[in-house]
Amino acid sequence: MALNHKLYAALVELFEKVQIHNEGDPLSYCMQRGRINITDGGEEYRVCCPICADSRYRLYFNHMWGQKVDGKTLFGVHCFNEECQKKPKFFESVIVPLKDAIYGIKGRVVVAKKPIEQAHAATFVEVPDGITFLSDLPPGHYCKRYLSDKRGFNPEDVCSTWGLFYIPDGAAIPGSNGKFFPANHNLAIPCMLKNKIVSYQTRFINPLTLSDKPSGKYPPKYFTVGAKSSTVYNIDRADGEVIVLVEGPFDTWRVGHNFAISPWGKSLSAHQEGVIVRLLLERAVPLVVWLDQDAREEAEALVDRFKSKLTSPVLCCSTDMDPGKMAYNDVMNCLETVLGSA
Ligand SMILES: [Zn+2]
Repeated sequence: MALNHKLYAALVELFEKVQIHNEGDPLSYCMQRGRINITDGGEEYRVCCPICADSRYRLYFNHMWGQKVDGKTLFGVHCFNEECQKKPKFFESVIVPLKDAIYGIKGRVVVAKKPIEQAHAATFVEVPDGITFLSDLPPGHYCKRYLSDKRGFNPEDVCSTWGLFYIPDGAAIPGSNGKFFPANHNLAIPCMLKNKIVSYQTRFINPLTLSDKPSGKYPPKYFTVGAKSSTVYNIDRADGEVIVLVEGPFDTWRVGHNFAISPWGKSLSAHQEGVIVRLLLERAVPLVVWLDQDAREEAEALVDRFKSKLTSPVLCCSTDMDPGKMAYNDVMNCLETVLGSA
């Protein structure tokens, strides 16, 4: 549920497709000489900017847009393509239709205020009743065939290294807004912290075709139970001579449990960034940011973000193929090349 559900609903009505990033993270700021200095924007909503015909969700709205912070109204919209928020047309096309959700609302919008610790603490999650570890299922099980035939992994290795489990059809999976949806051909990828499951991601697999694209809305292609923005996949085990930040679990498996970590996507919450910075400062090894091939700009932005906070080298690896789809030897060769160039 969006923190500022009124703004979110107005954006959905205006733009239809809205992405939520850093969900549940409150804005953090400090006052400096009477001015608000935002240290972390927190939850944001991204849409395709209608002014510059953008198709990559480059128009960002902060969840606190129009809200008062210490008596000052925050402005929180930015087009990262062409700074369209400065164009006269923007006022008419975006601000006017949204005005009820932002300005002059005094007291009508309730933005959930969570204490920072509560919003950020990773909490343990329960798994649905009746799960089976994939390593206990027969070799021909369709989830294992998906891992080998569609993803090129050795299923026995992956299942035991990563504790994958199978959720029986019909078991209740906690969805958004406190509602449950029934499992339907779901493999699950647990994220562990201190030997407990803090989140897990379900993945749909068609048992006949092994396709991972569902035909309807439920079950979703993938769904994360637990607070995504509070957890970093494999952070507990990454103890190698380099740490590689990748997008998702499949990339993590390919790069290996000693090296790879994943924030479950292309963007990082402030909490995830803090956890990763602490790990790197402690270990003092290089960090390689290696996102999917469609995310070069995001990868470069992350490199800049970490460079300002770390003392060890921060490098970018970009390839024409997502690391999770590459052969293991090619992944290692790419990493060696990147590290060699440092
Ligand atoms: Zn724009």
